[in-house]
Amino acid sequence: MPGLEDLYREIILDHHRTPRNRGELPPPAAHAVGHNPLCGDEIDVYLQVENDIVKDVKVGGQGCSISQSSASMMSQAIKGKKLPEVRALVRRFKGMMSIPDEDGNPIEPDPSVKLGDLEALQGVVKYPVRIKCATLSWNTLLEALAQS
Ligand code: ZN
Repeated sequence: MPGLEDLYREIILDHHRTPRNRGELPPPAAHAVGHNPLCGDEIDVYLQVENDIVKDVKVGGQGCSISQSSASMMSQAIKGKKLPEVRALVRRFKGMMSIPDEDGNPIEPDPSVKLGDLEALQGVVKYPVRIKCATLSWNTLLEALAQS
């Protein structure tokens, strides 16, 4: 029986090897670019929102396996979702990464928000320098949401 950590490592490697929703979307899709200078990660998020639903999402960029697999999982998790669900998922993910809310308070996990494959990234919280790698695509997503 493989341990949970092996399973998680396998999910992260799978998203790194076979990134989901890779590519670009033409305008008028929203486009935001994120950088993590600490690690050299770059993420492009293209977002097509229609009737408050993420109709399509594409991800580009390059960097470490944590940043790229997190972006791949993020794209898979938000595609087809309503914007309030997307925002709840961003909040849930940031809470898992021990990132406080806008007021500096810890984010309580909302059990109704399912993380799916994203749970594989929970081990990252033990490595504070990698948290920025894992959250880069999510912060870039928020920028793209602000445009759409
Ligand atoms: Zn990184």
